[in-house]
Amino acid sequence: MKRIYMDHSATTPVAPEVLEAMLPFFSLKFGNASSLHSFGLEAKEALEASREKVAKLLGANAEEIIFTSGGTESDNLSLKGIALRSREKGKHIITTVIEHPAILETCRKLQKYGFEVTYLPVSADGLVDPAALEAAIRKDTILISVMHANNEVGTIQPLQEIGKIAAEKDIYFHTDAVQTVGKIETNVNDLGVDLLSLSAHKFYGPKGTGALYVRKGTKLESIVQGGGHERGLRSGTENVAGIVGLARAADLASEIMASEAERLTDLRDRLAKLVLEKVKDAWVNGSMTKRLPSNLNFSFKYVEGESLLLFLDSKGIGVSTGSACSSKKLEPSHVLLSLGLKPEECHGSLRITMGRSNSEDDVDYVAASIAEAVARFRSISALGR
Ligand SMILES: *Cc1c(COP(=O)(O)O)cnc(C)c1O
Repeated sequence: MKRIYMDHSATTPVAPEVLEAMLPFFSLKFGNASSLHSFGLEAKEALEASREKVAKLLGANAEEIIFTSGGTESDNLSLKGIALRSREKGKHIITTVIEHPAILETCRKLQKYGFEVTYLPVSADGLVDPAALEAAIRKDTILISVMHANNEVGTIQPLQEIGKIAAEKDIYFHTDAVQTVGKIETNVNDLGVDLLSLSAHKFYGPKGTGALYVRKGTKLESIVQGGGHERGLRSGTENVAGIVGLARAADLASEIMASEAERLTDLRDRLAKLVLEKVKDAWVNGSMTKRLPSNLNFSFKYVEGESLLLFLDSKGIGVSTGSACSSKKLEPSHVLLSLGLKPEECHGSLRITMGRSNSEDDVDYVAASIAEAVARFRSISALGR
């Protein structure tokens, strides 16, 4: 059976070039980057060359890149690191209601330790209002954290505007850019961010590897203590193979970013058009203009997203409902609820995220399969028409 993967916001396959770059670091070049002999130096050189490459993708300096185990850790290090270091200055953090759990749960933990968090709402199409953000700033605000693009609905936030506000008020500005790095431009100076989280497995690199950009002069406390690796900000023997893979993935992404974004935008718009033509009582969630090229999030009335997902899976198609992390739970997606959807409308949603392997033929097949699935479940449902 034909298999079509359209869940690239959950994870991506490791690109062949990335795997090839990583392999020697599991065998011949196995050294510990902290060792002083030639085995160690070989690993150390690979580590520093990788740092340069990741920095280049972000328009940053190599010294500003801290390697971590992924997006979740980078988000934790940003929030907890700034909070711990700046707690004498203030206890207030501003974020949004549609962040990834790596941000939301970290904020909830910080609240338990006495920090105060403002969760900004979003508009019906999923966008944060910079004026509302500015109004939420207090004298004791130490950090603003707003994601670059949302993992469920793909909306791209006005980071430049927010960055200007943060800079004017002299408040640290973090962004979770896990969904944008490698897909669209993420130049840290253009965006005006002080901290930026990224994760390799979301752009054809390996799982369990990521990085945090920390602008020079930004003061944060470490949350993992030990041998003082990564400028003391993240102790632990470096995952050299993973980091080499991350760097190769970064290079690869920057080579094809523009053409791939254009191609995916066409596929996305084709899929939206086909599905909305074939299926009544359906719509796309989130902004259509400020949106990732790869993302579509549909709501279908009178059906369960779960049933659609399983039907599509039986046809070899991999998609998701809500986000991969919350899809095992029965609660409606916090992101869709924040957009103003009713719980039952959230349950009838499907996230489709395309990537390098997808073609126009795939789009046509998926559109036809979705139409078939919705028709079938509506006809057997008491609510159906
Ligand atoms: C996937 C994701 C994360 C978590 O990254 P991991 O590397 O899987 O820990 C964080 N934020 C966003 C927006 C994501 O999509």
